[in-house]
Amino acid sequence: MEKSTVCVLDIPFYNISQAAFIEELLFCAEQGKKKFVVTANPEIVMNAKADPHFKQVVTSADYIVPDGIGIVMAAEKIGTPLKERVTGFDTLVGILEKVPEKQFKVYFLGAAPEVSNKLMEKLQTNYPKVMIAGSHHGYFDLEESEKIAQEIIDTEADFIFVALGSPAQEKWILSHFHRFTKGVFMGVGGCFDVLSGSVKRAPKWMISWKLEWVYRLITNPSRWRRFFAIPRFMREVKKEVRRKEVDK
Ligand code: UDP
Repeated sequence: MEKSTVCVLDIPFYNISQAAFIEELLFCAEQGKKKFVVTANPEIVMNAKADPHFKQVVTSADYIVPDGIGIVMAAEKIGTPLKERVTGFDTLVGILEKVPEKQFKVYFLGAAPEVSNKLMEKLQTNYPKVMIAGSHHGYFDLEESEKIAQEIIDTEADFIFVALGSPAQEKWILSHFHRFTKGVFMGVGGCFDVLSGSVKRAPKWMISWKLEWVYRLITNPSRWRRFFAIPRFMREVKKEVRRKEVDK
């Protein structure tokens, strides 16, 4: 069956609910399939627009899901609404919660060395069912990168979560993907920082009021440059809406 997708600025987003997506990835792992997931926000879409090579990386994914609320709002404006936001964080947590006891091996690549260590402790306490295939922090050079990929291959991990920030994580996944015979790969940005307890996620009310991005900006002002992508993204969406109206 063809996947139902919604295009936002030429990026095809998978139109699925958060809960169904978690189930689908668990099913893929059960079948021993190899999959590449991109969790995209407006910044990633704008980077793909500006950089054809990165666009190729993103669109080579098996699934592109709308991580940012901006994507969901844009899809609605364009007249092709998406079911809901599907975040890297909720997908990661959903998988950790739902993996059948010791059935799948999960590998965690990325984040600072102390965050990576803290994450391993937290996982053992909070998700004892999860079989940890291994972990490695995200500060390594090109040469080590090859070795780390081989280490992950040797673990025969079923899920490989990569937290190197975008675009590094998507590029890392695609450049090593061909060497693997199985594994569900997903770039998860700053999720290990949150999951390890090193950084707090926005309060629930802010997430439901669609204000998670405001929280991240206030708590980490060094991110402000990245937020310029949002007004540029909204301008491009407006242009797309106008183009669609002309075509009618
Ligand atoms: N990171 C890493 N290696 C690097 C650069 C960044 O492992 O060379 C990690 C960083 O420690 C953080 C994550 O990548 O845990 C990126 O988080 P950010 O909040 O920037 O990602 P976003 O969720 O915004 O994509």
